[in-house]
Amino acid sequence: MRIDLHTHSWVSDGTESPAEVVAQARRADVDVIALTDHDQTGGWAEAASAARRLGVGLVPGMEVTCQAPGSRISVHMLSYLQDPSHEELTHTVHEARQSRQQRALRMVERLAEDFPIEWDDVTALTQDGATIGRPHIADALVRAKVVESREEAFADMLHPRAPYYVGHPAIDPVDAVRMIRDAGGVPVMAHPMASKRGRVVSDAELLAIVDAGLAGVEIRHRDNSAPGRAKLKSLARERGLIVTGSSDYHGSGKPNLLGENTTKPKALARIIEQGNADLVVSVDVDELLRA
Ligand code: AMP
Ligand code: FE
Ligand code: FE
Ligand code: ZN
Repeated sequence: MRIDLHTHSWVSDGTESPAEVVAQARRADVDVIALTDHDQTGGWAEAASAARRLGVGLVPGMEVTCQAPGSRISVHMLSYLQDPSHEELTHTVHEARQSRQQRALRMVERLAEDFPIEWDDVTALTQDGATIGRPHIADALVRAKVVESREEAFADMLHPRAPYYVGHPAIDPVDAVRMIRDAGGVPVMAHPMASKRGRVVSDAELLAIVDAGLAGVEIRHRDNSAPGRAKLKSLARERGLIVTGSSDYHGSGKPNLLGENTTKPKALARIIEQGNADLVVSVDVDELLRA
């Protein structure tokens, strides 16, 4: 049984519709996926009907943008099976989308001084209501033939050290964990040791996140460093955390392939046990426990 608990559709910065992501899972022989678009649940309904139609297992989720206070290190908190109408969490991710949009506007203003792009080029390549991110700016730069790929844009003008980069505030991951739990969801820290993306949280910050009620850590993710994975494994053992593995699929927007990392059936069973189980589509928990 192949389970991939981290994917994106064009509701955030993936390149395919939610239904297409589900269809791709079927093609890739992945039995269960979680749809975890950045800061919103707008893709859930479409993904759920595709999952029912195609018999693909679906765990609705979201990836909440956070920032560790003090160090200002960026943290992504996966939330599975939370009540999508929980007021405080909905408000928080709404704010995150607003601040992402403001930040993207400012980055495009800076880029426009040196490259032939403007804000309309970014929105033209973005679905209505999508959570805007640097990948959409990258797409506009590709379209303008400034770079050949998202990858190249991230290595160059979209890099945090580039003069065009603008940061944006986001909630404390400790608060995100508390809020996700309050919404009946299951908080799993995404790629906690992705040192190639930038600085990663300190041991003290990580422990504070665990103490707040973290359920699990995404260890098998291509961006986690080898020493980082070893550290996460011992933390998971000591604190009884759920261990997950995922692709972080973004369609053609990233080389990550569906099912390139997977989560064990028993780990998914634990997630479902701790979340709003009625949100799951086409997943048989008894089968997970038997697998
Ligand atoms: P943002 O959240 O707007 O700062 O942009 C970060 C997003 O860009 C992450 O969610 C990643 O999925 C994506 N990303 C990061 N690095 C790359 C890359 N090298 N190529 C394509 N997408 C990337
Ligand atoms: Fe992304
Ligand atoms: Fe992420
Ligand atoms: Zn992601």
